[in-house]
Formats: sequence, structure tokens, C-alpha cells
Amino acid sequence: MLKPDRLDRFLPQVFPSGVKVSSFAKHCPHCKKLVKSPAMHGVALLVVDRVFILARAECPQCGNRFEVKCMFDDSKQVHPVLLPTLMVRWLMLWHARQLRRRGIPLKPLATVVDDEVDAVATQERVGLLLADSEVTKSPETVGSYLGLPIVAWIEYQGQRYNYDRAVPEEGQFRLSQYEALFDRRLIYRRSGH
Ligand SMILES: [Zn+2]
Repeated sequence: MLKPDRLDRFLPQVFPSGVKVSSFAKHCPHCKKLVKSPAMHGVALLVVDRVFILARAECPQCGNRFEVKCMFDDSKQVHPVLLPTLMVRWLMLWHARQLRRRGIPLKPLATVVDDEVDAVATQERVGLLLADSEVTKSPETVGSYLGLPIVAWIEYQGQRYNYDRAVPEEGQFRLSQYEALFDRRLIYRRSGH
């Protein structure tokens, strides 16, 4: 599973050295303003000791669209990747397949903690994520948290989950059997439970 998604859903990335990268941004080549990972769509993957990023960014300031093709190491220095995009994509997919074969979960960790659905175990405090691309979101919102709207419910594999509570982005929390974490900060509870 290496599905393109909003890039911040691939964060944080944790290097084997324990260094954790929680945010990522690039300067817009047009207006030079900083474009952050929620304005990017693509994939990020840790390959050995480097995080590779392949994404499309849309600058919220000027609307300019540009490709993000880079990698960084645990010193958090960002380097351009000079290989053709198709080759980078192929290398990432190949590596993702190797990781999956070895049972290593990839981000976004799309899962629901549930009897019927395989739970992906993760050592990270971020817990379990449900990817945007896999859920149907309610058009109705019930407020906002950290500047982002809270949708009233989400639907995943035919099951409805109602908004229950918000959690601090890097905080500790527990998910019960019928709960799902969405967008790294919102917990939804299965209807009727
Ligand atoms: Zn711009």
C-alpha cells in the first residue's frame, strides 16, 4: 500500500536513528512563500535511512502548482532527487512492496481498530490513521479543531463512525475496539457502539 494522499498524513517519519520529522515544507518556485505538507498530495517513504517524497504541491498563496521530488536524511537536510519521476516512483513502489512482504506497516496507516478489520500495529504514538481517500465524509461539520473542520461522521467500508473527541496531535491516547482515528487528531466511534 503506497497510496498517494495528503502529504502531512505520511508524517511524522521516524528514522532508524530515532530522529523524528513531523513537518515538511518547500518554497514555492513562483512566489517563494513556504508551502507546507497539507498543500501537497503524493507519497513519502523511508527507504533505508532516507525519506523520499514524490508529490504535487499547490501554493495556497499564488495557486502555482509544482512537483516536489526530494529526499532528506536524519539531519533534516533536504536534497533534490535528480532521477526521472517515473524511476523514483518505480523505486518507491518496489521498496514499499519489500516492506509489505516483511510485514512492516506503511503510512498512511489506513485501518480501523475492529474485530473484522486487520489492525495495523505501530510502535508510534500517532496510533492508527484512516486515510482521506478511504472514507466518505459527512457534508455536515460540528466545529473545528486546530484550524481544520470536524466532520460529523465518516463512513468506512459501509460502516458509519460518528465524531467522538479530538486528541492532541502528538499526544497519548487509546482507541477502543469500535473507534477510528481520522486525520491524526479526530476520533470517531462506530454507530451504535
Ligand atoms: Zn506561490
